[in-house]
Amino acid sequence: MNKAVFLDRDGVLIIDTEYPGDPKTIRFIPGIGPAVKSLNQKGFKVIVISNQSGIARGFFPEENVNKINEKINKKLGEEGARIDAFYYCPHHPDENCQCRKPKTGMLEQAGKDFGIDFKKSWMIGDAIKDVECGEKAGCKTILLSKEKHEKYKTAENLLEAAKIVE
Ligand SMILES: [Mg+2]
Ligand SMILES: [Zn+2]
Repeated sequence: MNKAVFLDRDGVLIIDTEYPGDPKTIRFIPGIGPAVKSLNQKGFKVIVISNQSGIARGFFPEENVNKINEKINKKLGEEGARIDAFYYCPHHPDENCQCRKPKTGMLEQAGKDFGIDFKKSWMIGDAIKDVECGEKAGCKTILLSKEKHEKYKTAENLLEAAKIVE
Protein backbone atom coordinates (compact mmCIF):
# COMPACT_ATOMS: atom_id res chain seq x y z
CA MET A 1 0.00 0.00 0.00
CA ASN A 2 1.10 3.54 -0.73
CA LYS A 3 0.73 6.64 1.38
CA ALA A 4 -0.40 9.92 -0.15
CA VAL A 5 -0.62 13.61 0.50
CA PHE A 6 -3.79 14.89 -1.12
CA LEU A 7 -3.66 18.58 -1.96
CA ASP A 8 -6.36 21.02 -2.77
CA ARG A 9 -5.18 23.17 -5.71
CA ASP A 10 -6.57 26.71 -5.53
CA GLY A 11 -5.27 28.51 -2.45
CA VAL A 12 -2.67 25.79 -1.90
CA LEU A 13 -0.57 25.62 -5.09
CA ILE A 14 -1.87 28.69 -6.93
CA ILE A 15 -3.42 31.91 -5.66
CA ASP A 16 -7.17 31.51 -5.37
CA THR A 17 -8.61 34.37 -7.38
CA GLU A 18 -12.12 32.82 -7.17
CA TYR A 19 -12.38 30.27 -9.95
CA PRO A 20 -8.92 30.73 -11.47
CA GLY A 21 -9.41 29.48 -15.01
CA ASP A 22 -6.97 31.24 -17.28
CA PRO A 23 -3.65 29.41 -17.63
CA LYS A 24 -1.96 32.68 -18.64
CA THR A 25 -2.74 34.55 -15.43
CA ILE A 26 -2.35 31.96 -12.68
CA ARG A 27 0.17 32.78 -9.97
CA PHE A 28 2.06 30.20 -7.96
CA ILE A 29 2.13 30.36 -4.18
CA PRO A 30 5.74 30.78 -2.97
CA GLY A 31 7.49 27.66 -1.67
CA ILE A 32 5.41 25.04 -3.44
CA GLY A 33 8.46 23.57 -5.24
CA PRO A 34 10.44 22.72 -2.09
CA ALA A 35 7.23 21.70 -0.31
CA VAL A 36 6.15 19.16 -2.92
CA LYS A 37 9.72 17.95 -3.36
CA SER A 38 9.99 17.21 0.37
CA LEU A 39 6.73 15.23 0.22
CA ASN A 40 8.08 13.26 -2.76
CA GLN A 41 11.26 12.54 -0.81
CA LYS A 42 9.29 11.37 2.23
CA GLY A 43 7.78 8.69 0.01
CA PHE A 44 4.29 10.09 -0.44
CA LYS A 45 2.28 10.06 -3.63
CA VAL A 46 1.27 13.69 -4.14
CA ILE A 47 -2.22 13.89 -5.57
CA VAL A 48 -4.27 17.00 -6.29
CA ILE A 49 -7.98 16.81 -5.42
CA SER A 50 -9.81 19.88 -6.69
CA ASN A 51 -13.38 21.12 -7.03
CA GLN A 52 -13.67 22.88 -10.40
CA SER A 53 -17.31 23.87 -10.61
CA GLY A 54 -16.20 26.83 -12.75
CA ILE A 55 -16.51 24.35 -15.62
CA ALA A 56 -20.20 23.64 -14.96
CA ARG A 57 -20.81 27.31 -14.19
CA GLY A 58 -19.48 28.16 -17.67
CA PHE A 59 -16.64 30.33 -16.35
CA PHE A 60 -13.97 28.43 -18.31
CA PRO A 61 -13.68 25.36 -20.52
CA GLU A 62 -12.57 22.04 -19.08
CA GLU A 63 -9.37 22.09 -21.14
CA ASN A 64 -8.22 25.14 -19.16
CA VAL A 65 -8.15 23.03 -16.00
CA ASN A 66 -5.80 20.60 -17.71
CA LYS A 67 -3.66 23.44 -19.06
CA ILE A 68 -3.33 24.95 -15.60
CA ASN A 69 -2.47 21.56 -14.13
CA GLU A 70 0.20 21.06 -16.79
CA LYS A 71 1.62 24.48 -16.02
CA ILE A 72 1.79 23.61 -12.31
CA ASN A 73 3.57 20.34 -13.05
CA LYS A 74 6.02 22.05 -15.39
CA LYS A 75 6.93 24.63 -12.76
CA LEU A 76 7.29 21.94 -10.10
CA GLY A 77 9.35 19.78 -12.46
CA GLU A 78 11.79 22.65 -12.89
CA GLU A 79 12.27 22.55 -9.11
CA GLY A 80 12.72 18.79 -8.95
CA ALA A 81 9.22 18.17 -7.59
CA ARG A 82 6.42 16.01 -8.95
CA ILE A 83 2.66 15.70 -8.64
CA ASP A 84 1.61 12.13 -9.36
CA ALA A 85 -1.97 12.83 -10.43
CA PHE A 86 -4.64 15.50 -10.66
CA TYR A 87 -8.30 14.75 -9.96
CA TYR A 88 -11.01 17.34 -10.30
CA CYS A 89 -14.77 17.56 -9.99
CA PRO A 90 -16.24 19.48 -12.96
CA HIS A 91 -19.80 19.51 -11.60
CA HIS A 92 -22.10 22.18 -10.28
CA PRO A 93 -23.03 21.81 -6.59
CA ASP A 94 -26.68 21.35 -7.67
CA GLU A 95 -25.75 18.20 -9.56
CA ASN A 96 -25.17 16.49 -6.22
CA CYS A 97 -22.38 14.34 -7.61
CA GLN A 98 -20.29 11.97 -5.54
CA CYS A 99 -16.97 13.65 -6.31
CA ARG A 100 -17.39 17.23 -5.13
CA LYS A 101 -15.62 17.83 -1.82
CA PRO A 102 -16.50 17.42 1.03
CA LYS A 103 -17.69 14.14 -0.48
CA THR A 104 -14.93 11.58 -0.80
CA GLY A 105 -15.46 10.29 -4.36
CA MET A 106 -12.18 11.67 -5.73
CA LEU A 107 -10.19 10.33 -2.77
CA GLU A 108 -11.78 6.92 -3.19
CA GLN A 109 -10.93 6.88 -6.89
CA ALA A 110 -7.34 7.93 -6.21
CA GLY A 111 -7.18 5.33 -3.46
CA LYS A 112 -8.10 2.61 -5.96
CA ASP A 113 -5.83 3.94 -8.69
CA PHE A 114 -2.77 4.16 -6.45
CA GLY A 115 -3.46 1.61 -3.70
CA ILE A 116 -3.53 4.23 -0.95
CA ASP A 117 -3.63 3.52 2.76
CA PHE A 118 -5.71 6.47 3.99
CA LYS A 119 -4.63 6.07 7.61
CA LYS A 120 -1.05 6.89 6.60
CA SER A 121 -2.18 9.71 4.32
CA TRP A 122 -2.91 13.40 4.66
CA MET A 123 -5.30 15.93 3.14
CA ILE A 124 -4.13 19.54 2.98
CA GLY A 125 -6.42 22.37 1.92
CA ASP A 126 -7.42 25.93 2.66
CA ALA A 127 -11.15 25.28 3.08
CA ILE A 128 -13.06 23.41 5.77
CA LYS A 129 -14.57 21.16 3.10
CA ASP A 130 -11.05 19.96 2.24
CA VAL A 131 -10.22 18.81 5.75
CA GLU A 132 -13.75 17.42 6.24
CA CYS A 133 -13.27 15.37 3.09
CA GLY A 134 -9.91 14.06 4.26
CA GLU A 135 -11.23 13.27 7.71
CA LYS A 136 -14.19 11.32 6.28
CA ALA A 137 -11.80 9.18 4.25
CA GLY A 138 -9.71 8.48 7.35
CA CYS A 139 -6.75 10.75 6.52
CA LYS A 140 -4.84 13.09 8.78
CA THR A 141 -5.51 16.70 7.85
CA ILE A 142 -3.96 20.16 7.81
CA LEU A 143 -5.99 23.29 7.22
CA LEU A 144 -4.02 26.10 5.60
CA SER A 145 -4.96 29.17 7.58
CA LYS A 146 -3.24 32.10 9.25
CA GLU A 147 -5.52 31.61 12.24
CA LYS A 148 -5.67 28.59 14.51
CA HIS A 149 -8.75 26.42 14.28
CA GLU A 150 -10.41 24.84 17.30
CA LYS A 151 -10.84 21.49 15.60
CA TYR A 152 -8.21 21.19 12.86
CA LYS A 153 -4.43 21.32 12.81
CA THR A 154 -3.35 24.39 10.85
CA ALA A 155 -0.31 25.69 8.95
CA GLU A 156 0.24 29.02 7.22
CA ASN A 157 1.10 27.59 3.83
CA LEU A 158 2.04 24.38 2.04
CA LEU A 159 5.73 24.74 2.88
CA GLU A 160 4.93 24.87 6.62
CA ALA A 161 2.41 22.05 6.29
CA ALA A 162 4.96 19.84 4.51
CA LYS A 163 7.20 20.08 7.60
CA ILE A 164 4.40 18.60 9.75
CA VAL A 165 3.67 15.71 7.39
CA GLU A 166 5.42 12.48 8.33
MG1 LIG B 1 -8.86 25.96 -2.04
ZN1 LIG C 1 -18.36 16.01 -9.15
